[in-house]
Amino acid sequence: MELQLISLNLVSNRLRKKYKIKNINWDGKELYIESDYSVPTEAVSEIKTQLGLEMSYNVFSDKHLEGNEVLECFFEDAFLKRATDIHFEPVDMGVRVRIRIDGYLHTVDTICLEEYDRMIRVIKIQGNMDISENRLPQEGGFRHESRGYDIRVSIIPSLYGEKTVLRILPVENKFKNLDKLGMSKQQLDIIEKALQKRSGSIIVNGPTGSGKSTTLHAILNEVNKSVQSVLSIEDPIEIIDHDITQFQVNEALGLTYAEYLKRVLRQDPDIIYLGEIRDTETARLACEASLTGHYLLSTIHTKTTSDVILRMLEMGIEPFLISGSIDLIINQRLIRRNCPMCSKKVSVKKEYQQLFGITEEVKGSGCKHCNNTGYYGRIGLFEINEVTEKTKASIFSFQNNHNIENCLSDFNEGIGISLVDHAKYLLKNGMTNCQEILPCL
Ligand SMILES: [Zn+2]
Repeated sequence: MELQLISLNLVSNRLRKKYKIKNINWDGKELYIESDYSVPTEAVSEIKTQLGLEMSYNVFSDKHLEGNEVLECFFEDAFLKRATDIHFEPVDMGVRVRIRIDGYLHTVDTICLEEYDRMIRVIKIQGNMDISENRLPQEGGFRHESRGYDIRVSIIPSLYGEKTVLRILPVENKFKNLDKLGMSKQQLDIIEKALQKRSGSIIVNGPTGSGKSTTLHAILNEVNKSVQSVLSIEDPIEIIDHDITQFQVNEALGLTYAEYLKRVLRQDPDIIYLGEIRDTETARLACEASLTGHYLLSTIHTKTTSDVILRMLEMGIEPFLISGSIDLIINQRLIRRNCPMCSKKVSVKKEYQQLFGITEEVKGSGCKHCNNTGYYGRIGLFEINEVTEKTKASIFSFQNNHNIENCLSDFNEGIGISLVDHAKYLLKNGMTNCQEILPCL
């Protein structure tokens, strides 16, 4: 049988380092490993498991790496693959290591408890945590200086040992430009038109982790900051923008969203970015601000655009305040983008053909560039709703639960570009595929 060269990407960084592996070939039965050290049978068996050639894994430790070396192997792998989190999960036979890329976890390795113990000591020391404590949860953090990342650590004892999650945050988290988020020209035009007003508001809604703050920072980037004063109140500040003044909410000191909002209104702002509207006081202040000559950008944690209005009514905000202040609602989801290196045209499953009106789509098949996932990076799926005069009138006339149905149906009629409309645009342009979109609709 012919020898087949196996991509080293499929073998964990830790084993590659440990045995200085240069090449791996497979003849259909056996693995041939070229390396500087002789690779013991247990390691060959572990490599086979990682390649999906064997079911069970053996956890062993003969030649050992120091705790900091093991940790560095996982960091290198994570930085290279654009991971946002590393999870160390103790299971009955060892510790499973997974990394999150574009929102999904991928198993990269399994290490033995001894190796994990050495590594977790290093994490605790670097993260300013108590190394003798292993029965209580701990939190900490440190900076990976040479690569420019802040690492946030959370350790919680679990059935088989301490589960550790490392959150990877770039020190300089640059915001994206609005035209890089995946919006169509039509959607960009609507936002641009809205921003030309001196007062009003844009509310972005969607589930946790749907990229709401990324969108708002990108929108702020479109504003002419040299002639306008832009202030932001956030919790936490994740994206640093040197052109605006950013305030960090600090509940312990009584600096809540509402308290900050009252204060910053006295600092002559043109545009206020409020991280989240989550209580009645903040909601009312936000509406009042946008009615009194300021432009307000904020987020609300709801599923659909009409839920934004419902949520505000539930908070007890008067209908006239809502109808007067809300101009544009953007509902969004985050989806993975097709890998540009391995994507090609495929036919679409029958059941999706009707929904999206297509018979062919573009999909990634997996390559070295995308770590065999078929995806590279993420984009937004956006529904954009300009609140029309008719809808405003309908919200204004809201009296009680009797006419809420009419109010919402007027509202939904006004939706300019729905999630399905935008999905069709993304599919037509080969940016993502039906399978990725469907769970979001
Ligand atoms: Zn690819």
